Amino acid sequence: MDFTPNPDHEAIIEGVDRVCSDFDDAYWAACDQNHEFPWAFYTKMAEGGWIGIALPEEYGGGGQGIAEGALVLNRVAASGAAMNGSTALHLTMFGLQPVVKFGNDQLKQTFLPRAAAGDLHVAFGVTEPDAGTDTSRIATRAVPDGMGGWIISGRKIWTSKALESEVCLLLARTDGEPGEGFGGLSLFLVDLDPEHCDIVPIPKVGRNAVASCEVAYDELPVEGWRLVGDRGRGFHHILHGLNPERILLAAMACGIGEVALRRAVGYANERSVFDRLIGANQAISHPLARAHMELNAALTLAMKAAWMYDNGHEAGELANTAKYLAAEASYFAADQAVQTHGGLGYATEYHVERYWREARLQRLAPVSQEMTLNYIAQKVLGLPRSY
Ligand SMILES: Cc1cc2nc3c(=O)[nH]c(=O)nc-3n(C[C@H](O)[C@H](O)[C@H](O)COP(=O)(O)OP(=O)(O)OC[C@H]3O[C@@H](n4cnc5c(N)ncnc54)[C@H](O)[C@@H]3O)c2cc1C
Repeated sequence: MDFTPNPDHEAIIEGVDRVCSDFDDAYWAACDQNHEFPWAFYTKMAEGGWIGIALPEEYGGGGQGIAEGALVLNRVAASGAAMNGSTALHLTMFGLQPVVKFGNDQLKQTFLPRAAAGDLHVAFGVTEPDAGTDTSRIATRAVPDGMGGWIISGRKIWTSKALESEVCLLLARTDGEPGEGFGGLSLFLVDLDPEHCDIVPIPKVGRNAVASCEVAYDELPVEGWRLVGDRGRGFHHILHGLNPERILLAAMACGIGEVALRRAVGYANERSVFDRLIGANQAISHPLARAHMELNAALTLAMKAAWMYDNGHEAGELANTAKYLAAEASYFAADQAVQTHGGLGYATEYHVERYWREARLQRLAPVSQEMTLNYIAQKVLGLPRSY
């Protein structure tokens, strides 16, 4: 084990903190309130090369790993940008990992350089209304067009960034019937062509700067080279994007917890009630101390998971564990930040209610806490499957 401070990582933290310092809480609150994608912030992050940091150098990326991506997103979230800022970027970091690993040359040459430069926005379309967590029930279907290509029809739900994205990494059924396992699923990088894709944002509680959408695919033509990897191996390929996604999400969640905690400590050190600072009450200080420790532990585990993934080791257990613990720690910290602010915690002016709304999301998505516990119970502990 080596915990020596890494100068490259320190440079990343310093560089990202510098960009983020130009975008304060008022900016993020306005993006959230107006449901506006944070273009000014996105452009600055792209100019700094931060969005493509985990894509290979030969395609114009930074050639770094998921650990460095996690650091970037952690600092973005911790600046007060929370999910509104970090999810504007994270799809490019993890979503294209299956293309890097399994995509053909044409896919890589065409899309990776633009993604690395931040010019190409990517969405990730897995979840369907009728399948839910049970991905084997995916019904969106890709049918051969007789000329080497495909025609795709079906309905996805919760596709984040579909409004901004030119392309979507889409999991669709090429063989078999819904419920017949994962073998009939294939992965495509499709164009979100408005002539064949109807995109409707879903009104939601928070993270409103980045819309998540219902997308109806109506006979979308897709050329053969847009198939990522092998037909029928789509679920397997997408798993290579899911562990990085969990690691990045864990780092983002810890960032939200950090900024919530920072605000809570600041308020507890200045608000006086009954002639004493509220932070002098252990009912206030102890939960904040606990939040600090839990966030620290979760982030350390996320970085270990990232190291495992980047070094080619099996990362499933640690990626899932980090995401679970980070989601709990982040929500606890944000909830305590609201509590510390008393009634003003519920006012938008202090921003902690925005962190709290955004921290809640990680307990549901990209994978629910229950399904993470199922994974650990079955795959790690060897307990029987309950469903
Ligand atoms: C803001 C937001 C953004 C999202 N972005 C994307 C995206 O970009 N792309 C994408 O593909 N998806 C996206 N999702 C979808 C997200 O991944 C799913 O919502 C999540 O995986 C849960 O699936 P579900 O909503 O279908 O819940 P369901 O599968 O309907 O489950 C409902 C509840 O039942 C529980 N449950 C179900 N089965 C079991 C079981 N066997 N044991 C214990 N508990 C169980 C679940 O844990 C959950 O609490 C997003 C969701 C949200 C809210």
